[in-house]
Amino acid sequence: MRRLPIFFVLDVSESMAGEPIAQLQSAMESIVEQLRQDPNALETVHISVIAFAGKAGMVVPLVELMSFYPPRLPLGGGTALGEALDELMTRIEVEVKKTTSDQRGDWEPVIYLLTDGRPTDRTDAAISRWRKQYASRAHLIAVTLGGGADTRVLKQLTDDVVALDSGGGDDLSRFAQWVSASVAAQSQALDMGKSAPGISLAKAGEAGISLVKDSDSAPVDEQVVVFTGRCHRNKKPYLLKYNAVSVPGNFGAPAGQGVYGLEGAYPLSEEYFEWSSEGGAASTVSSDQLEGAPPCPHCGAVTSFAMCSCGKLMCCNGPGEQTCPWCADTIEFGKGGGSSFDIGRGQG
Ligand SMILES: [Zn+2]
Ligand SMILES: [Zn+2]
Repeated sequence: MRRLPIFFVLDVSESMAGEPIAQLQSAMESIVEQLRQDPNALETVHISVIAFAGKAGMVVPLVELMSFYPPRLPLGGGTALGEALDELMTRIEVEVKKTTSDQRGDWEPVIYLLTDGRPTDRTDAAISRWRKQYASRAHLIAVTLGGGADTRVLKQLTDDVVALDSGGGDDLSRFAQWVSASVAAQSQALDMGKSAPGISLAKAGEAGISLVKDSDSAPVDEQVVVFTGRCHRNKKPYLLKYNAVSVPGNFGAPAGQGVYGLEGAYPLSEEYFEWSSEGGAASTVSSDQLEGAPPCPHCGAVTSFAMCSCGKLMCCNGPGEQTCPWCADTIEFGKGGGSSFDIGRGQG
């Protein structure tokens, strides 16, 4: 039996924290559930998951549909698309069987690359390697979530770029429907001996997923800002996520001068740092630009937005002495506060 390898290359950068990653997770579950009901897909489809934030890595190796379980997706800082492509090419070399004189190899692999942001690493070398050595023997479909993805870069990589506008729950469930229907159709066509039917993007339009035709549209800037802090009690990390607020009269404010409203505070595990790129914050935001400071998602302390002189965020339960969970210095928090300060934001 020739296998039909499907690779999901998923952006798990910190802007995906909260709802988006939960929805991506359930989209993966629904794709697998729907495909398992298709006898052709059950015989041929094999799935692998590669994740990327500041670092890229394989999360699930290529396994048959029956033994694939959607993984819990990690989260990290950064969007290392170049590294993700390198990882993808490595996995294709390792996992996909080539046709030789004494074996029939796998079918052409299909790759769904989902991203919601702009690459934070160099992509040129990986993109040109992909175009030269892989584009003719694999089908890569790039899928953008929300308005922040860099379609110009994706268009260099593949002609097939589709957009899920809001990246919200409905979009992702439509995406799941479309992917499972396309993959099932592909495995059926292969079973009937058609040579290279290919995944049809025409069906994407029918499913309400828009095709990105030109590459001129610049990504929407500065939609999400994120910060990492640590709980002063258990030292565990957390993520604070703010979304750009459109203020009347302030529309189109220069980057770094917008206003951001709190979306939520999410507990993180140490794994977050393994998936984040080194090199720290991309830029800074003034605390004046931020509206809302949530309680600590770990210990419930009144604010998760206190800053040590080392420049890192921690939670704080009001005035008094506290030990910084990052640098272990003792700091005295006064009453009131009120002065604004600049903080390094994540890379998204
Ligand atoms: Zn805390
Ligand atoms: Zn400190």
